[in-house]
Amino acid sequence: MRIAMISEHANPLAALGEVDAGGQNLHVAELSAALAAAGHDVTVYTRRDDPVQSADRITPQGYRVVHVPAGPVRPLPKDELLPHMGEFTRFVERAWRTDRPEVVHSHFWMSGLVAVVAARAHGIPVLHTYHALGTVKRRHQGTADTSPDQRIGIERMIGRTAAGIVATCGDEVTELARMGVPRTNVSIVPCGVDCAQFTAEGPAEDKALPFRVVSVGRLVPRKGFADLIAALPGVPDTELVIVGGPEHARLAFDPEVRRLRALAEKTRVADRVRFTGQVPRDRMPGLLRSADVVACVPWYEPFGIVPLEAMACGVPVVATRVGGLTDTVVEHVTGELVPPRRPAALATALRTMLADPIRRSFLGGAGRDRAESRYPWRRIAEECVREYQRCAELAQTGAITVVGSAAR
Ligand code: UDP
Repeated sequence: MRIAMISEHANPLAALGEVDAGGQNLHVAELSAALAAAGHDVTVYTRRDDPVQSADRITPQGYRVVHVPAGPVRPLPKDELLPHMGEFTRFVERAWRTDRPEVVHSHFWMSGLVAVVAARAHGIPVLHTYHALGTVKRRHQGTADTSPDQRIGIERMIGRTAAGIVATCGDEVTELARMGVPRTNVSIVPCGVDCAQFTAEGPAEDKALPFRVVSVGRLVPRKGFADLIAALPGVPDTELVIVGGPEHARLAFDPEVRRLRALAEKTRVADRVRFTGQVPRDRMPGLLRSADVVACVPWYEPFGIVPLEAMACGVPVVATRVGGLTDTVVEHVTGELVPPRRPAALATALRTMLADPIRRSFLGGAGRDRAESRYPWRRIAEECVREYQRCAELAQTGAITVVGSAAR
């Protein structure tokens, strides 16, 4: 199929770990690569934010990336991008006049807006993946939420207008139902993991203490790193390695690192907490394998790819019982689930797991099996293609309307 992906802020070629570059970038990159490997023609449209980016390039994985001129050619926080989406929309709408995809898959709400408006003129069906929902963010972050006020309304509009919604987990389906998105319009296709890159066998980085807990993510408060630091006094002989954020050289200036370091000092665990800064993809498996436990303890989590990477490396996971983590981490089988924002419960779960090496190896082995059987990107791409074909056929037969805004 000829597939257009729209991922306005999350460039599949970006380095991961900074505030606006994480799971979505990886999802778009890996899904596009798996689709290209299966013989599909994939073009990703993403905002141009660096003057050295070529306008158009074919990646070694065989998909094409088009850097769309929309707003200043420099990085902007994603919450400031909405005013530039008109320019983005006009660009793709023009591109599709001569290069018409059969289906558009948009990622994140502003891409969804671009997609439904640009595709309408051409009668192309749009499938949308939210990656995160404004309603959930508002609930958890309240006044700290810097998303534009229009976000929730636009997300609702996309849910009713797109030919199909590709949710990534069961929890998201419930949230979408609360927003009034028809259940019949929603399918679930999770994110995946590269089981050839993330393996249980292979070198592991050295640890400095008998036990190591690794936690990976963009350095934003909701990822729960502060809860891990608060739990650490209750987890003896253990170092905590926090992975993500800016490059190592810029770490000392990062406000979130400063906040977490101050907390570690106050909690008297500063000598057991280490920040690596941004870690390139090829270093990640060795780092995860060095962990006795990988902790994924966000306050909320739309999907969460890190637990899959840990599972693929045969490492047990302690995760919070939120969002996509309740689908990926099978309690007592591949890891343990704890309530969010409860350092005492977290400390107990970590301590108990670290005390039992046999249980850890059992959980890690089951995690590897689960990653290999359910989450390879090849399988995720096949499931997406089934949805693309279904919507393309429905659009052709007129069963769904893709011209005009009243889709169903
Ligand atoms: N990641 C990385 N280097 C870093 C930090 C993170 O490669 O320094 C990767 C991590 O391995 C995972 C992704 O970024 O593949 C984060 O995805 P996740 O879904 O867990 O979180 P999100 O960023 O979507 O909130």
